[in-house]
Amino acid sequence: MIAGTWRMALEGVSKGAHMLATGASAGDAVTEAVRAVEDYPLYKSVGLGGLPNGACQVELDGAFMDGDTLDFGAVAAVKDVKNPVSLARRLSTERFNCFLVGAGAEDFARVELFEMCNMLTERAKRAFEIRSRKVRESNLSPYDGHDTVGVVALDSSGSMACATSTSGLFMKRPGRVGDSPLCGSGLYADSRFGAAVATGLGEEIMKGVLSYETVRSMGEGLDPDSASRRSLKSFIDRRIQAGRRVGAISILCCSRDGRVGVATNVEFSFVIARRDSPAKVYLVSPDGDGVKIQEAPVEWLEAYERRIKLPPEEVF
Ligand code: ASP
Repeated sequence: MIAGTWRMALEGVSKGAHMLATGASAGDAVTEAVRAVEDYPLYKSVGLGGLPNGACQVELDGAFMDGDTLDFGAVAAVKDVKNPVSLARRLSTERFNCFLVGAGAEDFARVELFEMCNMLTERAKRAFEIRSRKVRESNLSPYDGHDTVGVVALDSSGSMACATSTSGLFMKRPGRVGDSPLCGSGLYADSRFGAAVATGLGEEIMKGVLSYETVRSMGEGLDPDSASRRSLKSFIDRRIQAGRRVGAISILCCSRDGRVGVATNVEFSFVIARRDSPAKVYLVSPDGDGVKIQEAPVEWLEAYERRIKLPPEEVF
């Protein structure tokens, strides 16, 4: 079983599912699934073509966690690294220095011969120009437009893993780091219980350590739907009680027996593939304390394909 956040995970999850079917480990499957998203320049919030920060630079965050050993690696605010998820995975094998940021992470990537390239595409540069103008002229929030690919997998030997990758908030302050590379916030895996990933406003998700909370609840015996919803609801209640506004948050998780759960306070999509069922996209919307889920209709999938290829003037 392998599942990923947002429609953009479709091709990567399909690839990961094929790998799992031919005996690959959960760790290899999630890494390859995330790499596929990082490599596709029209997925505008991850890897190549990712959304620039306020200085028009693409700074990326990514992480990897192995649910058997709890080995964890991450990078944050890295530039010019083609596949942050692979660098994060490499770091997960280090006893010391498993989380590197900025120039230190880039130096390590060069020494280890990771592929480096300019991650700012012409399209992303244009998006930055358009959005900067709109922010100046019409008070629009610069931070609208983000999304993280987060993938969880369970392999045939019962091992679990998860990984994330994102360019974070559009026009974020240089050096800003969200939840995605933070162990327990953007992702967590423990093969004894399950794995979870989160997407949405990182400044919120990190305050509730929501991926860890979800896996911990599965460890207490909750099914994945209840676990993710309890984490989300108790966090939102707590913030509202304190008089704070809560931003967009979605959690995708999988239990150690392969059941998938989802919780969200905004419209969300995700992809699942299982041994006998090819990757499918599902649309989720909040519904009271739960969610409504439907398989994405063909028209929605076609509209998505069209939308990501539109000229930047029509998208941003
Ligand atoms: N969680 C990511 C961040 O805050 C963005 C997202 O998933 O939408 O960097």
